[in-house]
Amino acid sequence: MSTAFTTGKELQKMDPVFGQLSFNDHEQIVFCNDKDTGLKAIIGIHNSVMGPALGGTRMYNYATEWEALNDVLRLSRGMTYKAAITGLNLGGGKAVIIGDPKTQKTPELMRKFGEFVHSLSGRYITAEDMGMETSDMDIVRDVTPYVTGISESRGGSGNPSPITAYGVYLGMKAAAKQQYGSDVLSGKKVLVQGIGHVGETLVDYLTKEGAIVTIADINEERLAEVGAKYNAEIYRGDDLYSADVDIYAPCAMGATLNDATVHKIKAKVIAGAANNQLADENVHGKILQERGIVYAPDFLINAGGIINVYAELEHYGKEEIMRKTENIYNTTLEIFDFAIANKMTTHKAALTIAQNRIDQRKLENSKK
Ligand code: NAD
Repeated sequence: MSTAFTTGKELQKMDPVFGQLSFNDHEQIVFCNDKDTGLKAIIGIHNSVMGPALGGTRMYNYATEWEALNDVLRLSRGMTYKAAITGLNLGGGKAVIIGDPKTQKTPELMRKFGEFVHSLSGRYITAEDMGMETSDMDIVRDVTPYVTGISESRGGSGNPSPITAYGVYLGMKAAAKQQYGSDVLSGKKVLVQGIGHVGETLVDYLTKEGAIVTIADINEERLAEVGAKYNAEIYRGDDLYSADVDIYAPCAMGATLNDATVHKIKAKVIAGAANNQLADENVHGKILQERGIVYAPDFLINAGGIINVYAELEHYGKEEIMRKTENIYNTTLEIFDFAIANKMTTHKAALTIAQNRIDQRKLENSKK
């Protein structure tokens, strides 16, 4: 798992929690341990000013506990800003379970994890992330109401990925409008890196609009399947980041915009689903800006998933989910304008607007 800008050794030199580079005034970090089931989990509550901290649970075979801690700190912070920029009354949280989901995930372990979530009395609400399935959330639901992303038969909103892909598609169109003066993607060369749940649906939207799609993945089977289904070209070069494309859509892992890649990217638009695409948001966002590349902030355009699970809490239906997701297009354009007006990167602009909303709400809350 990427630690993005710190190595394991560097992490160990720092104070374990408050001294972490990724520590950003998080409100609460909860370490969950259960010997019987082998559960080792960390729940990170970054900020709860706007509402309960909502964010998925990731199960991953982290090389070290430091990596797991770093991941939960970064991911939970991202959720705070994602909810705030999308206008949802939610705070930011996330959980990680240390272990291989293929071999170490059991119903007993998930149940125990649910009990820990329940012990926080709703300050943290969980959902799916990597290594988790809807059926796991159903187990968590047996022991706590503080879970979303449960199966539709139990009143859940189902798989969020198609909605996420729709939001990413609209964010990409907004970014194309900003760069090229038109949001029409027909004829544009788009590279989609990662054709999993979100990436494949994005390929579908792009193909239907007439974009020239190239796909990349580490899974050869998926490449063959998705390539044939959408008649998409499969990337076979040895340096994906210098591919001759107009738009790069990172839809696999985070931190692909880093020292080794930002200088050679030929695409003039970057818009994708992956979380935390900028390895260092203060450094790499600036380089992209200087190179004239329009970067659509990841936490804004991949918010379809959270809009979808928020529906479970607020009891709104598909129509409202789609309306809120469609709004990503306008918000993305507003952020580009704000970035230009305030001479800052698009990522910083989105963070600033989100932080302003949080500060405003904090003020209102203090007056109650
Ligand atoms: P997924 O696991 O279904 O798909 C990821 C795909 O990326 C897989 O096909 C995998 O083989 C591929 N991949 C992994 N490493 C790769 C590499 N080094 N190079 C190329 N391909 C690689 O995940 P997903 O649900 O489609 O999510 C994709 C990204 O979007 C993740 O970063 C996720 O955190 C983010 N995201 C997803 C949602 C959602 O609703 N699913 C919401 C917000 C953000």
